[in-house]
Amino acid sequence: MAQFSRTLVIGATGFIGRYVAEASVAAGDTTYVLVRSPFTKCLSKAMTIRSLQDRGATVVVGSINDGEFLVKTLRELKIDTVVSAVGGGGILDQLVLVDSMKILGTVKRFLPSEFGHDVDRANPVEPGLGMYKEKRRVRRAVEAAGIPFTYVCCNSIAAWPYYDNTHPADVLPPLDRFQIYGDGNVKAYFVDGTDIGKLTIRAAKDPRALNKCLHFRPPTNYFTINELASLWEEKIGRILPRITVTEEDLLAAAQENVIPESIVAALTHDIFIKGCQTSLSMDETRDAEVSLLYPDVSFRTLAECFDDYLVKHRDESVDMISNPNSIIEPFAITATCG
Ligand code: NDP
Repeated sequence: MAQFSRTLVIGATGFIGRYVAEASVAAGDTTYVLVRSPFTKCLSKAMTIRSLQDRGATVVVGSINDGEFLVKTLRELKIDTVVSAVGGGGILDQLVLVDSMKILGTVKRFLPSEFGHDVDRANPVEPGLGMYKEKRRVRRAVEAAGIPFTYVCCNSIAAWPYYDNTHPADVLPPLDRFQIYGDGNVKAYFVDGTDIGKLTIRAAKDPRALNKCLHFRPPTNYFTINELASLWEEKIGRILPRITVTEEDLLAAAQENVIPESIVAALTHDIFIKGCQTSLSMDETRDAEVSLLYPDVSFRTLAECFDDYLVKHRDESVDMISNPNSIIEPFAITATCG
């Protein structure tokens, strides 16, 4: 493994970025987190920043839209690894970051905001494709600038894959009914956020992941949505009705072009109707697979993740019972998986 370990995480207050920043600190790396608003009024983001500081991360205030600031920061902090997890709306903002790293020429590995599918090979319907085209543009800029990279393709998050909602893990699995896509028999890989963070940081220093797409395909976490539903039924101890969401329903939701919900619908169609995760074949010259690179790592299973959701369901019920006036902070709709 390479010895560099001064890491800048961009988007650490976000869904994926928090896992990456936590893993970077846990790995013992000197970790900086770039934050736009350190005094944010958003309670969950403020708590994330505080918790990362408590673990040893250093907050750097700024934005990736400011090239001059970025060059200065990367130079002064001697950053060798940059991991970006900006959300779907900020993908092209990374072009300024790429230019800054090119000017400086010292960053040894850049992991742009990907964290979904291999955007060069997957072709979802619009507006999912639009986001993929932006991610492809960032890839081409990275390659043209000669910046060493790893593209993290972690597939789906270990959570119930709502097609019309928010970050997959923000909403707990259902207690009333399942929405099953098509016949429900198409498989996908469901990976826990902590494993995504941990293995992203490990691969960032691994020469075997240099200039490669890093795929997360743990055989233990390869499920159909029907199997996912059965697993959740086992956890809650009862059977729920299953409603079919057809291919046409998903395409109609995508066509509405409401961002980001329609992007999620387009990607749900690509995963659970077209089977984009199952049809991908690995090419040694451009791909690396985490389960093969790190056979020592055991992934958190879906059963374990669903146990966590069960506890959260119980906590929420207790909250509502003990304090019926309690206000639950709504989650922002920002999901743009893939
Ligand atoms: P979020 O929207 O949750 O968070 C985005 C983060 O980026 C925030 O911390 C935000 O900071 C920061 N940010 C945005 N613009 C800038 C900027 N100009 N300068 C500095 N920081 C900035 O992102 P997600 O976690 O949803 O998405 C990250 C990646 O993961 C995306 O590529 C997305 O497509 C993918 N993804 C994949 C999923 C899957 O199922 N495989 C699920 C969800 C996402 P601030 O707090 O200031 O707003």
